[in-house]
Amino acid sequence: MPDNDVYDITILGAGPAGLFGAFYAGMRGLRTKLIESLPQVGGQLAVLYPEKLVYDVAGHPRILAKDLVSQLSTQGLHFGPTVCLDERVELLARREVGDGEEAWVLKSDRTEHLSRTVVITAGIGAFAPNKLEKPGVAHLEGRGVEYFVGDKLPLRGKRILIVGGGDSAVDWCLNLKDWAESITLVHRRDQFRAHEASLAELRLTNIPVLTFWELKRAHGKDRVEGATIFNNKTGEEREIEVDAILVNIGFKASLGSIVQWGLDMADSRHIKVSCLQETNLPGVFAAGDIASVEGNEALSLIATGFGQAAIASNAAASFLKPEARLFPGHSSEMRL
Ligand code: NAP
Repeated sequence: MPDNDVYDITILGAGPAGLFGAFYAGMRGLRTKLIESLPQVGGQLAVLYPEKLVYDVAGHPRILAKDLVSQLSTQGLHFGPTVCLDERVELLARREVGDGEEAWVLKSDRTEHLSRTVVITAGIGAFAPNKLEKPGVAHLEGRGVEYFVGDKLPLRGKRILIVGGGDSAVDWCLNLKDWAESITLVHRRDQFRAHEASLAELRLTNIPVLTFWELKRAHGKDRVEGATIFNNKTGEEREIEVDAILVNIGFKASLGSIVQWGLDMADSRHIKVSCLQETNLPGVFAAGDIASVEGNEALSLIATGFGQAAIASNAAASFLKPEARLFPGHSSEMRL
């Protein structure tokens, strides 16, 4: 069902910049909507690095990425924005919305949204895990075959097969080593993409690391019960009993249709913005990793994303009410 309400501001992407932008939009009293293509907020922090420490967030000498996401969610959702998860916006266009007013219509893979301003905080674009096309894998996805670990609890005491040789696979081996009953890592070659320090840590564990081995088939009717793995050099096959198969074979990120919305692009991955985060489209702003200020190299840092998101939301408030100041006032003087 299309949402016929016209929001003041719609933020595309609920990573750190999007969440912080939602906080400022709320502080400005704007009716706010957040749309995120993943089933969760937090962006790359939540998907790629949840268990990693981050050291360059102001005010936090060190903080676990997932804790930062949790704090950002509390802050970003403070004013109660409407949040739409697992939804990808595919088209942005102008439309008359009544009383002679025009607004932006955002068509997603589910519905339509109307908004007076839009802030694009889509980072490196919507990203999706590479899928492993082997017998049994698609059938058991979500029933023991997983591409993301959103919650470790179901993996407690389980026998896990992890597939991949990048940071995700190795990080999950390390993260789950005292949590699972057993872990086996299979990787298709003997060179790893993961950081050397993580590999050194992995070698200190008793996790079997089978190089030149791959998954051939996932077994199980309603849930994963086992797997067949094979050696891609010798052809040897083994059946192993496992309860879960974690496939960590990388991600594809793409700006998708964003590049067709008529935005001036600095390059194929970055939207050109002014120092007020304005794009060439009226009332459309961009902030964070996706934004290139005046065509300069994007400084893809969480710290920069926060600042740009604050500017974008406040510039959107001024766009909506030209008589309003850009400066929002100090939050310490408000009762939040
Ligand atoms: P990745 O670095 O792309 O690694 C994917 C792994 O899967 C590679 O080892 C690749 O093998 C293997 N693979 C790909 N297709 C396969 C297939 N069809 N069958 C079997 N194996 C296959 O992906 P990632 O580990 O998810 O990491 C993604 C990005 O996030 C990277 O830039 C990574 O550094 C970053 N990240 C960083 C951290 C951290 O800093 N702690 C944590 C997570 C992710 P080949 O090597 O043979 O191609």
